[in-house]
Amino acid sequence: MSKTYQGIILKAISGFYYVYVEGALYACRARGKHRHAGVTPLVGDRVSFTPLDGGSGALDEILPRRNEFYRPAVANVDQLVIIASNALPVTDPYLIDRMTAVAAYRGCGCVICVNKCDLDRGDMLYETYRAAGYSTVRVSAATGEGIEALRGLLRGRVSAFTGNSGVGKSSILNALYPNILLPTGEVSEKLGRGRHTTRHVELFAVDKDTLAADTPGFASFDALLPEALEPGTLADCFPDFRPMLGTCRFPDCAHAKEQGCAILAAVERGEIARSRHESYLRLCDETRRTR
Ligand code: GDP
Ligand code: ZN
Repeated sequence: MSKTYQGIILKAISGFYYVYVEGALYACRARGKHRHAGVTPLVGDRVSFTPLDGGSGALDEILPRRNEFYRPAVANVDQLVIIASNALPVTDPYLIDRMTAVAAYRGCGCVICVNKCDLDRGDMLYETYRAAGYSTVRVSAATGEGIEALRGLLRGRVSAFTGNSGVGKSSILNALYPNILLPTGEVSEKLGRGRHTTRHVELFAVDKDTLAADTPGFASFDALLPEALEPGTLADCFPDFRPMLGTCRFPDCAHAKEQGCAILAAVERGEIARSRHESYLRLCDETRRTR
């Protein structure tokens, strides 16, 4: 019996899966049985493999996944780091709420990061998400404000960065981890030609047990809502709604305009941000239209 190792797939390139184990990277090939079982190894997969000569290996098992995203194809994400900004480009809160809902549905946490606070403090964004119960930080990739606090929130976890193009994802990753250099660019240029640099996904091992991935951003991040995400389950994906769920007058309340709706009452009292409730209604609509 040859010994096997366990590690995490950091990237997949032309049939090779690069598996990270305690500082070393092994170029592994999938065995035929994975193809037979119809499982494609994903970046983020925890796998066991048999090391072969010269830093190569053969994948043996794909361990059960905690969750899986399709675009980009990445598994076992502990948290999405949603980068937003109230300076150019201004982030539409609906896009943040959509991402937080999809993340919650997939059993993945969220960190909301308001960037470019050297240009605009983004008070509304910051307060809305802090009040909704998310870990929320103000940062500036330009001045370094908040970068240490963000680094603390990432430590020991697998994080995927997302946000609208030009919001500063790459700049923040570079500020956090200067030894992993990513291309940055002018907002206008990037918006114009689209982002081709991060079409594939790669996890960076920034220290022994901290992994981070840049992703193509909101525009394509799981652009389709998950099949099974219906109006009935959507409210559960809003942590700020949870304390009130089950207390509406009607058990099948859609929290839209029903009499005795506890969610609507909380919005009126200012306990739930109006923008969050509006996003919820818009998402309900979107799930109905795409079915
Ligand atoms: P990405 O598309 O989200 O990866 O965005 P980039 O990291 O490429 O940043 C887009 C533009 O915004 C670049 O010109 C950056 O220099 C600029 N930028 C990023 N973060 C900040 C910030 O905190 N403050 C300011 N003033 N500019 C920033
Ligand atoms: Zn209700």
